[in-house]
Amino acid sequence: MSQRSAGACGNPGESSSQAGSDFDTDRCIACNSAGMARLEVKDQFLGHPLQQCASCQHIQVAVVPDAERLQSYYLKGYSNRRANHVDSRYLAIMARRAEAQLDLCMQWRPLSDLRLLDVGCGYGSLVAAANRRGAIAEGLEIDPQAVAHCRRLDLPVNNVDSEATLAEAICERAPQLVVISHVLEHVTDPARLLSACSRGWVMIEVPAYDVEIPEQFDDQEGHLNFFNLASLKSLLVRLAFEPVVLDGFGPSMDTYWRARNIWKRRLGRLISRDHFMGRYSSHCSRGIWMRALARGSRCAS
Ligand SMILES: [Zn+2]
Repeated sequence: MSQRSAGACGNPGESSSQAGSDFDTDRCIACNSAGMARLEVKDQFLGHPLQQCASCQHIQVAVVPDAERLQSYYLKGYSNRRANHVDSRYLAIMARRAEAQLDLCMQWRPLSDLRLLDVGCGYGSLVAAANRRGAIAEGLEIDPQAVAHCRRLDLPVNNVDSEATLAEAICERAPQLVVISHVLEHVTDPARLLSACSRGWVMIEVPAYDVEIPEQFDDQEGHLNFFNLASLKSLLVRLAFEPVVLDGFGPSMDTYWRARNIWKRRLGRLISRDHFMGRYSSHCSRGIWMRALARGSRCAS
């Protein structure tokens, strides 16, 4: 099964296919290596074994679910599950994480008057925070319940209906900074989405995975891609992005995920009164999140 990536922003030089990323599930979506090995753990959509790249250790589904199945999952199950979690506590957590992400972006430049696009902006925490800091920020989101929430708050957020539309919308807007937080693990073609961002900077956050922690794969939350630091770097470099930050953040994977550390986790949450133990800005090489701040190949600033 294979699928060719669309070019980005009408520039063949930036198309993911030219960058060697024709979408083929037999190849690693991060480094494009053909050396993929099957794992015992199965994917949540079709029940096929996940596969791991021998070169960069990236893990991905072996067979990508078709667009109809994915759309049904995101517009029904995923959307309703998230909506059931949205309360003041959830929004406070998202706001704290957004502030930490924006602090990282400010290592590159102040946010004042910066044209920022939050791709997959969810319930709008980062768009709101960026605009409070003086940016000209807007969001794109597939989940209609999240878009409705943002509009009730008068946030500039628009609904998109597919991955391809998302890439086109980035090209049309040509923002100076694209924030892609907890999105790349869900898309069928991360290279296409990133290629659309090459005229500016990107700030990416994805969950970090370690095949040695099986608890991470019990609930895959709709993920098609399971990144690690090496695979995230491979993807960025292959698409000619220059990372200035690429690191792990947040609580340690070992504390957060491993069943045997449940008491350590409970104690940390009790003391900090926070689900992520207040570690939103904390560098940690084995942190549960990875953040990258990178300059695109066609970026003028
Ligand atoms: Zn790889």
